[in-house]
Amino acid sequence: HADTAMYRAKETGKARCVIYNHEKFTQPEHDVSMEAAMFQAVRDGEFLLHYQPIVDARSRQIMGFEALMRWARPGQGMVSPSQFIPMAESNGLINLLGAWALKSACVQIKRFEEIAGRPLYVSVNVSPRQFRNDQFLDIMDEAMALSGLDGQQLLLEITEGILMSDPEHAEALLHAMTARNVRIAIDDFGTGYSSLAYLKRFPIATLKIDRAFIKDVPTSVKDVAICNVVLSLASHLNLSTVAEGVENEEQLEFLAAHGCGLIQGYHTGRPLLPDDIIALLKSQQTSRQASPKPAAMPA
Ligand code: C2E
Ligand code: MG
Ligand code: MG
Ligand code: MG
Repeated sequence: HADTAMYRAKETGKARCVIYNHEKFTQPEHDVSMEAAMFQAVRDGEFLLHYQPIVDARSRQIMGFEALMRWARPGQGMVSPSQFIPMAESNGLINLLGAWALKSACVQIKRFEEIAGRPLYVSVNVSPRQFRNDQFLDIMDEAMALSGLDGQQLLLEITEGILMSDPEHAEALLHAMTARNVRIAIDDFGTGYSSLAYLKRFPIATLKIDRAFIKDVPTSVKDVAICNVVLSLASHLNLSTVAEGVENEEQLEFLAAHGCGLIQGYHTGRPLLPDDIIALLKSQQTSRQASPKPAAMPA
């Protein structure tokens, strides 16, 4: 396939995305300068991934990481994905960036595991255009083969809308993933327009409760109600839950007490460069060796 053939990263899984040929991509229609800069950025390897810890709500042990894309734009610092992902989605560059992110994240998590000395998982965001791409399954297989990661260590984050726009395609793809033990999470759960019907139809493993509902717990009666209903729904459907955007101890304690399994947010760890994650894992290992009490593994 052309997209994959053009994928000429110096060494797949390296920390930077580098390609040498991007002629196939559609010409820019608007914001030409940013779009042009983006193609150049891919060529020059300016995209990178940060990793944010996802911790067990009770033991607070790191269970995995979400890979979050960044653009280190010279002279402009780190550009947020909310600024460049929509453009990459409209010009098709997301297929290339997404494939690189998936492979890179799988390889990276293996390195993290070596340091931690125990299995970890990685959560990777998949955009609608990637999800629709015929090559997506092949890219995922390549990422797992290349890294040696087990399917169960990979969680793909998609949004509610992706499933309902082409349910037949989604169903086939999700079952192919399930056959590989790769799990699917619904990102930003509760913020889309979808009905709950897709939870019945599709093999979903995890709900990520959007930050919007976490922000004001435990003070907001409405947010407490919404969180409790989502946690109860997940529990009855046997789905795991991740709370996004947990910024303080009160939120964490509320979520842990109400059965949320996993926590992600600035309170338990910001998105960091791989070297900083490695340092963090090393320091945690030292402190664990110092105290003989092992953290309990969640179910
Ligand atoms: P998301 O998947 O919902 O990712 C969570 C976002 O919340 C991240 O923003 C993360 O940095 C931020 N966050 C984490 N903890 C906290 C917290 O405690 N407080 C607050 N205020 N924010 C927190 P980020 O990194 O800017 O990413 C924004 C969005 O861009 C992501 O939302 C995701 O939809 C998209 N994105 C990021 N990386 C990728 C990628 O590799 N591929 C695709 N397709 N989309 C990506
Ligand atoms: Mg996400
Ligand atoms: Mg999210
Ligand atoms: Mg979100």
